[in-house]
Amino acid sequence: MQAPAKINLTLDVLGRRADGYHQVVMVMQTVDLVDVVTVSVNRNHQTILLQGGSEEAPPDQTNLVYRTAALVQEQAQLPYGVEIELDKQIPVAAGLAGGSSDAAATMKALNHLFSLGWDDKKMESLLARLGSDIPFLVRGGTALATGRGEALHSLPAAPAFWVILVKPPFGASTPQVYKALKAKSLPEPLPWPEEMTPENIPEEGYSANMLKALRTGSYQAVLDAMGNDLEKVTLEWFPELKVLKEKLVCLGCDRAMMSGSGPTILGFTDEEAKARSIAEKIAKETETLNYRVMVARTLGREEADEWIVD
Ligand code: ATP
Repeated sequence: MQAPAKINLTLDVLGRRADGYHQVVMVMQTVDLVDVVTVSVNRNHQTILLQGGSEEAPPDQTNLVYRTAALVQEQAQLPYGVEIELDKQIPVAAGLAGGSSDAAATMKALNHLFSLGWDDKKMESLLARLGSDIPFLVRGGTALATGRGEALHSLPAAPAFWVILVKPPFGASTPQVYKALKAKSLPEPLPWPEEMTPENIPEEGYSANMLKALRTGSYQAVLDAMGNDLEKVTLEWFPELKVLKEKLVCLGCDRAMMSGSGPTILGFTDEEAKARSIAEKIAKETETLNYRVMVARTLGREEADEWIVD
């Protein structure tokens, strides 16, 4: 089962809620940079055996793959153990939701393996307990996420384009980034609608513009509507990310932006050859800095499903 990374086309932070979480409005998109989660049954015992992972996401009980398998075992009262191999390709703590996608892929794989018959809604609500980003990764494609990021509405698919992903050799802690944003510039909480939908999200945010852009199906309109409120924190902490954004545009990207809470910087183009040549140049220019440079293309919902159930 392939677990695709997510990028943010938009990220609006509306403010802090009474429960301490931030009220966000985001347009998210899956791309074809993937981890691979392989599951099998072990009828001899009931334990979860996890192998693989990486130095930053070791195969222990804290891994989201392990925690998801334990949740499935408990909810479905599985009489058997499971063996899981995690092949990690998505950088960790990068704003690409790799751990969240691994969790979603693990639940989908176990649902399939044990014929549990759980639908997307059921999986999304169980996975929301493990992290706000995870429900989106059950469906993938292009979606609006509101609340803490767990309330989803599918959107018209974004036009296909290519992304150059550049991950510097440091991480950005999502909770720390939100904390700094609060200290700086968040407006007082507004009376948000109880349930946000594509129809009632705030007009002035990036996401409302992105919804209009997606309806036109135009790549240029999507580029124009992109924006991420968390950039003002992460880019100030790491000025080299500003330089990286400028460099991507100088090398020919149509636009550059940070994904999620960062620090991964995304460069956009609608031509594959151009994406690969820019990636090569940026890799060469940042050789001594230990940046990781990857190329991916947008993955629509149907395609994501094809990739996932193999
Ligand atoms: P988001 O965009 O949701 O903030 P992220 O890209 O910043 O996600 P992840 O890579 O999903 O962050 O991981 C965040 C934390 O989760 C890491 O610090 C890591 O220790 C932990 N983690 C647990 N399991 C995994 C996993 N399978 N893959 C990656 N990280 C994991």
